[in-house]
Amino acid sequence: MLHRRLLHPALLLLPLALLGAPSLQAREVAAPAEHVDADGPYVFRVGDQLRAKWICGDQVQMRTLPADAEGTDFTPQCGYAHSVHVLPPVAPSVSVLPATPRIVAVSDIHGQYGLLVRLLRANKVIDAQDQWALGKDTLVIAGDVFDRGPQVTEAFWLLYGLQQQAAAAGGAVHFVLGNHETMVLYDDLRYVNPKYLRSAQLLGRSYPQLYAGDSVIGQWLRTRPVLLKIGDTLFLHGGISPEAVQLALDPATTNAAYQASLGTPKAEVKADPATASLYDGKTSPIWYRGYFDGRLDSNGVLAVLDQLHLKRIVVGHTSMPHVSTFHGGRVIAIDSSIKNGENGELLFIENGTLSRGLLDGTRVPLAEGVPGVDG
Ligand code: ZN
Repeated sequence: MLHRRLLHPALLLLPLALLGAPSLQAREVAAPAEHVDADGPYVFRVGDQLRAKWICGDQVQMRTLPADAEGTDFTPQCGYAHSVHVLPPVAPSVSVLPATPRIVAVSDIHGQYGLLVRLLRANKVIDAQDQWALGKDTLVIAGDVFDRGPQVTEAFWLLYGLQQQAAAAGGAVHFVLGNHETMVLYDDLRYVNPKYLRSAQLLGRSYPQLYAGDSVIGQWLRTRPVLLKIGDTLFLHGGISPEAVQLALDPATTNAAYQASLGTPKAEVKADPATASLYDGKTSPIWYRGYFDGRLDSNGVLAVLDQLHLKRIVVGHTSMPHVSTFHGGRVIAIDSSIKNGENGELLFIENGTLSRGLLDGTRVPLAEGVPGVDG
């Protein structure tokens, strides 16, 4: 890619501390790792068959099975330690749901599968075998499974499996897309863990192509919402800015527009007037940070909520030390910095009462956030 060689000389004068800033465009795609111990499965639909591929000890392993309408089981070779039960292609998920008594929410997993499992087990969302334990309740994941950490594949299979198990139990798992899902799919690989660039090399596809429409998780991602309204609460990754309120008036239409454009090249979605507002780095639902960086005060938040007839908005994307309440409980920030691989928290909404679940399984009130402090 040519633009990487055309760094403006002025960039070299920037203080070194700025080089880690996520907004800086100069961040480069990492070089692939030299060796992948264990990754997979990546499962692809090939005619009426399913082909699963793993990287075990830096070698590709493959298994092909007929696609069964009731589901096809692949036992683990390496990588994800549980069997995966692959269903036929799924339909786009619903965007608006009635209120439900109990919701658990988490976001910004960023490849930290081990930490996610500990957090979900400690709070009895899953059992010791990593199976759904929340019965008829709802789990919402507010985006950003991709990038940074080394266990993205495992995290996606866990969520894919939990969704089936929850549905069978009368509960639900809702995965909401984050900006990192859209970035990987449109080939912006600046945050991809080097491990996955090696996996892609070994599998003979680009990393986005491992999540193409013929891949099971890729197809699943293309049916996930960006906006999910449950009762009077809206869940999404970034936030609804005043500039983008119209996108949230009809969540189903906006979700369909995202789904139709996933995987379209970045330059194209940004240039096309029909999709530019969906991908705007400052104001779009997957990127907005205005509830926290001082751009929008509490009156502004209230105006957005009133236009959308919402009681609250639950968002990830902007990292916090804790699951926190902002603007008098109108905005709940649930990116608890799992990406650092050290700690994480869950949001519980139980009959209108909010609390956070900690890594040791205890439950405490939400932290009080301070707007103006950018995460
Ligand atoms: Zn994000």
